[in-house]
Amino acid sequence: MNVNESDELIACHECDALFTKRALPTHSKAKCPQCGALLYRAMSGNLDRICAMTLAALITFVIAQAFPIVELDANGLTSETTLIGAIVALWSEQMEIIAVLVFCSTILFPLAELVALLYVLMPLRAGFVPPGFNIVLRTIQFVRPWGMIEVFMLGVLVTLVKMISIARVIPEAALFAFGALTLMVAVVVSFDPRALWDIAARLPQKPKRAARHVRQRS
Ligand SMILES: [Zn+2]
Repeated sequence: MNVNESDELIACHECDALFTKRALPTHSKAKCPQCGALLYRAMSGNLDRICAMTLAALITFVIAQAFPIVELDANGLTSETTLIGAIVALWSEQMEIIAVLVFCSTILFPLAELVALLYVLMPLRAGFVPPGFNIVLRTIQFVRPWGMIEVFMLGVLVTLVKMISIARVIPEAALFAFGALTLMVAVVVSFDPRALWDIAARLPQKPKRAARHVRQRS
């Protein structure tokens, strides 16, 4: 693939100066010589690491959603719930807006980000750019600020501490899964998806279709 030289230009977001983008050695960064603003960092070429972390986070996410978070025992009356169960309870208590907000920030958006990241990371690792690459990357950048698993985790912990005086609180599997997920998501979020555009620019688009044409011809 011939890359036009104009594709490799980068503008300083502080002073609008244009520069030709060059590959950097690992752990280095490019700064604007005019104003000193950070232009871009060297890509951590380690796609494997972020790919493995995203996959692990997705598996932990499923565990966190599938199992109860805590069990409450008050005078022999026990009750336990999953996150989905809590959202359904909110909805049936006429708190529909809060139910929707909790659903979006703790289930829908984090899940969308993890699935979308895997969708672009897996093919890039295999050496090709998946269809809809640009839209998927923009989706990741759109949903990222709305994923609030860490806020949810903090809320749960504060609630549990307050509940201890009323009932016996027994932590269940999903509580530990959410704890682990909070740390994993922090690692995944530290990865800048813009780096994937640079990697994709050096890869061919949709090699499978090309391979099929070759097979038909022969
Ligand atoms: Zn500048």
